[in-house]
Amino acid sequence: MERRMSADELEAGFDRALENNHIFAVYQPQINHTTGRMIGAEALMRWNDPDAGMQYPVDFISVMEERGLICRADLHVFECVCAFQKKILEEGMTAVPISFNISRYDIRQEDYVEQLEEIRKHYDIPVRLLRAEITESSAVGGMELVSAALHKLHECGYVVEMDDFGSGYSSLNILKDLDVDIIKLDMSFLSGTIGGRGGVIISSMVQMSKWLQTPVIAEGVETMEQADYMKSLGCNYIQGYLYSRPVSEKGFLEKLQRLSHEPITPALHLIESIDAGKFWNPDSMETLIFNNFVGGAVIFAYEKGRVSILRLNNAYLEEIGMNMSARDFLTTNPWRQHSFEGQRIYEDAIKKAIRSGNEEVCETWRTFESSCCGEEKICIRSFIRMIGQTGEQYLFFARVQNITAEKKRYIELFDSERRFRFASEQANVYAWEYIYETKEMHPCFRCMRDLHLPPVVKNYPETAFEAGIFPEDYWDMYRDWMRQLHEGVEHLEGIIPLTVGRIPFIVRYTNVFDENGKPLKGFGSATMVVSEEEE
Ligand code: C2E
Ligand code: CA
Ligand code: CA
Repeated sequence: MERRMSADELEAGFDRALENNHIFAVYQPQINHTTGRMIGAEALMRWNDPDAGMQYPVDFISVMEERGLICRADLHVFECVCAFQKKILEEGMTAVPISFNISRYDIRQEDYVEQLEEIRKHYDIPVRLLRAEITESSAVGGMELVSAALHKLHECGYVVEMDDFGSGYSSLNILKDLDVDIIKLDMSFLSGTIGGRGGVIISSMVQMSKWLQTPVIAEGVETMEQADYMKSLGCNYIQGYLYSRPVSEKGFLEKLQRLSHEPITPALHLIESIDAGKFWNPDSMETLIFNNFVGGAVIFAYEKGRVSILRLNNAYLEEIGMNMSARDFLTTNPWRQHSFEGQRIYEDAIKKAIRSGNEEVCETWRTFESSCCGEEKICIRSFIRMIGQTGEQYLFFARVQNITAEKKRYIELFDSERRFRFASEQANVYAWEYIYETKEMHPCFRCMRDLHLPPVVKNYPETAFEAGIFPEDYWDMYRDWMRQLHEGVEHLEGIIPLTVGRIPFIVRYTNVFDENGKPLKGFGSATMVVSEEEE
């Protein structure tokens, strides 16, 4: 019974179909997945031919466009919507905004918006109950027509939706140039790939839209999994078979009575001083600064322990210096590079930044793996600042410094000192430093342990005398040593019976001088004298 009509049949039957309302609108509800309330609906064109049966847009829209019929068809659907809203209002029901489609051929007519307005005023429908959908592809071949139409629609008070966002390559540019109010993201363009490439694209689109404070409606949502995924990204508005197929006027009236409704609202409340939207504009001063002047920097979102990188600049890639592209960073979970401890440190800094509103600093080691270079550890110092918040999701701007070389030098120093101390322990050597300026002695661990000395011994050597480390008859000799050291002798050596046990030690001093030849520090050591018999 039902069959597809040919292009010629469609063209020939068009006028009659319009007159007899064989061309009409069906309605698909848009739902807030979290509250279950209706936020609006979209009007979709149908053609029910008495002979051929129901015809669908895939089969007739392009024919109408090619044969110059689309404007009349769209205005007809718009009139159906106005008449329907009128009926809803007259029956005393609460109406929700209904979106209508504007073809890219429609906006070529200079007075298209005026024609819409004429119909709307005729039916006396408040403009807030109608939303215009323009498609991304309208911009193909020039932005002038779309932005002129958009401007007019805004002037008349229409909320404008960007339909099929993400289907083209120019999405970002379009958002920059067109000041749309709502973005419609079509899941079917990215079907079946949650968690894969599609998931990445969707999540960055949603993030970006939050930045622009533009609400997103996810279209073509068929499964609960998809809806929950969108919700996890902070996108609650859903249009798709999951909630409802497009339904007739009668079917829609029933839903309208059953479901409560609510207005659509932007999600992100940005911190006042920063207009993060500007970061997305390729020509803005913010972007210029981001790309050229801040050094390595990244923008990321944090929500309940999850971090996702939204944007990074070239200097970031240079600073990290690994064999990774921006894409690699955008598509891997940043926590993978952190150790458990590193993640804790970084998350602490994030939480501090949320509390303080200031820039917070942290240093973390990260492990990078690449197929060609193997594994490598680098240390990153991050300066983290919160720039936006929505519900439980926070947005951050972070500058990064690769401090691996600095850290490695420190570790080497630390290592050599540790080795020295370790060697001292093994070789029965006591070691200490004496600082001339302060007359302080810094003992090694072994001295501290065996001689019960504090980490800093003040007024040396008198305190050591009092502690009984030196026999009294050696005090004057040792005071003379200290005098010689103060005067700049390079080296001293002698045997002194030390500790309460009066064990003979070879005590040695080596002086370190500043650039003027003034003594800075004396390095002292005491080695037990081992008698030959014992060996
Ligand atoms: P669109 O504007 O993106 O409309 C959404 C399309 O997705 C509709 O198809 C809708 O039925 C379908 N859809 C809704 N939920 C789901 C889902 O969960 N899964 C899948 N796979 N699809 C879903 P429809 O009604 O066949 O319309 C197709 C396209 O035809 C529309 O895409 C729009 O570009 C065009 N169109 C429809 N009505 C009009 C109109 O009045 N004027 C103009 N110019 N174009 C229209
Ligand atoms: Ca649409
Ligand atoms: Ca769409």
